[in-house]
Amino acid sequence: MAEEKKVVRKTVETARDMGRYMENYYRELDEASRTHNRKIAWCTSVGPAEILRAMGFLLYFPETHSAMLGSTRMATDYIPYANAIGYSPDVCSYMTADVGAFLQGITPLSKTYPGIEAIPRPDVLVFNTNQCRDVQDWFSWYARKYNVPIIGVHGNVGVNEVTEPIVNAIAEQIEGLVEPLEKISGNKFYMDKFREVVGLSRQCSDLWRDVLEAAAAKPSPLTFFDGSTLMGPAVVGRGTQAAVDIYIKLLAEIKQRVANKVAAVDDEKYRLYWEGMPVWGRLSAHSKLFASLKTNVLASTYCSSWIFTALDAKDPFKSMARAYTELFIVRSEDYKEQYIKDKIKLYQVDGIIYHDAKTCATNSNCRYGMHKRMEAELGIPTLMINGDLNDLRCISDEQTATNIEAFIEQLADRK
Ligand code: SF4
Repeated sequence: MAEEKKVVRKTVETARDMGRYMENYYRELDEASRTHNRKIAWCTSVGPAEILRAMGFLLYFPETHSAMLGSTRMATDYIPYANAIGYSPDVCSYMTADVGAFLQGITPLSKTYPGIEAIPRPDVLVFNTNQCRDVQDWFSWYARKYNVPIIGVHGNVGVNEVTEPIVNAIAEQIEGLVEPLEKISGNKFYMDKFREVVGLSRQCSDLWRDVLEAAAAKPSPLTFFDGSTLMGPAVVGRGTQAAVDIYIKLLAEIKQRVANKVAAVDDEKYRLYWEGMPVWGRLSAHSKLFASLKTNVLASTYCSSWIFTALDAKDPFKSMARAYTELFIVRSEDYKEQYIKDKIKLYQVDGIIYHDAKTCATNSNCRYGMHKRMEAELGIPTLMINGDLNDLRCISDEQTATNIEAFIEQLADRK
């Protein structure tokens, strides 16, 4: 831990463009919220963004806002306000931090982007329960608060094979959103526009995948901690040309790093895979801790959650249904194990960190023995750390650091 302070994080140049992108994104939403020049749809992070964008809505993603509450270490202070109105400390801390901050009239946007005083007011809230039920509960709270409509897609859970009947049923639900959205937006739905947006979303997804997969190089040019912030435009901007342009630039920079053998972590000795959510309030601390141990956590399931390879402009409804069902979080335990095995092979890692996030069961995959099975089958060590995405009361920094240091020692012994 003593060495930790000396570690300097290498800056990804395109991160500055990303910063500007995010600022423009929030300022455009803020203007629309104040002037009503555009309709605003709130969308879950892996919700049906493409159809909303095609119908002229500006999109706001509460999960991204709550991740900001986490990364600015504000979240823990506001969770109790949501607990006080009956939301358990055990349910999603994205939701409870966000609701609590709203109740107190606080948003990190005001600090980061002076002049923005509040989150954008929704005209409609649109969810997909493919990731968890909490998103529907979360959006329902705001629907009552703002007295605006809430609609959504009821996704599947534990899907092993993504079959035609499953895809058709979800596609039907997505298509069913068109009529209410036409009424709310006042805009007509045009298939050509929809195809264009789906095509752009696919391009963005492919570029983001290429960025993440470039991390397989030795030494790796990227860390999971960089990826957790670099993914911003892929989440909030998918379906736009601006997001595509920014990932073209990022990919070129990362490829250049690979060509020049620029390591994201100096003297990379150990390579790890991160399974589960980031601890937003400790992103920088964790990044420095691993770097001080000459260890690069270079890949994760989390950052890959915004890869939608099935999207196809020729068949937009069905391909959306497939893309949003093929996601890791929607899948069976067997599928997940095979997925992680493939990633371990691709990224050639020495071990896996499983983050058991107290308030997110669906993104904590070590509660039913998976990490032990992976250890036995792959022959590589795994470490389970207790924590949370937003609630820092669930984290013991000393314990985490001690466990990680012991884990790296174990890897050193194996080498
Ligand atoms: S997946 Fe987890 S972190 Fe994300 S909204 Fe659902 S419960 Fe919260």
